[in-house]
Amino acid sequence: MTEPSPMPRPQPLPDSEVERALVVVAHPDDADYGAAGTLAAWTDAGIEVTLLLCTRGEQGGFDDTPREQMPAIREAEQRAASAVVGVHDVRFVQGHSDGWLEPTWELQREIVRVLREVRPQRVLTQSPERWYDRLQASHPDHLAAGEATVRAVYPASENRFAFPELLEEGLEPWHVGELWLMAHPQMGHPVDITDTFSRKVKALQQHTSQTAHLGDRLETMLRAWASGNAAAAGLAEGRLAEAFTLSRLN
Ligand SMILES: [Zn+2]
Repeated sequence: MTEPSPMPRPQPLPDSEVERALVVVAHPDDADYGAAGTLAAWTDAGIEVTLLLCTRGEQGGFDDTPREQMPAIREAEQRAASAVVGVHDVRFVQGHSDGWLEPTWELQREIVRVLREVRPQRVLTQSPERWYDRLQASHPDHLAAGEATVRAVYPASENRFAFPELLEEGLEPWHVGELWLMAHPQMGHPVDITDTFSRKVKALQQHTSQTAHLGDRLETMLRAWASGNAAAAGLAEGRLAEAFTLSRLN
């Protein structure tokens, strides 16, 4: 008896066929921890990347900085970090609080709005599924941002009868070609970031309120994670990787 052959894993579009990408995350620093090396490679390849954040991260930090100062501090840190990896269009959804994010209808609508404005072929977001091997990567806000984004990508962005108020604003439906998820329990698609790793470290260093207390341990920690991803993906010894799971939408 022959074994049933497994479904082939979805393969990404070649970067040369992607003009625009949208990244949606819950907090400042999430895109950099999960994907800064990959984003640097995408922008180097000429892809225009837009970063959309669902909150300003006002529950983050490790000192007694007044809480009301955190949103502005973290927004500035994110803009500096994104600039390191070639991302200059950084946007924030208004009206959602760090720590309390839910995949509400309102949040989905704001993500659909940006999808229809940016018209990306590729979307990268956080896994809506909890990864118990590394629970801190699955902060509840990350699951919410991921869930809202997946629902926005399919079906809402491409369905002209979803959010008719957006159509009235002139925002036509948009079909996304592929979806990438960070911190998913099954991360089958590695991206070799050996060449962009130093920019990932520099990007994370811009998030001073979140990483300054780590000192040199920041790079050590990032290198250990990236080495682990590369080893799990069977890349050569000494290589570094970020890892994702992919969906293709026909
Ligand atoms: Zn986060």
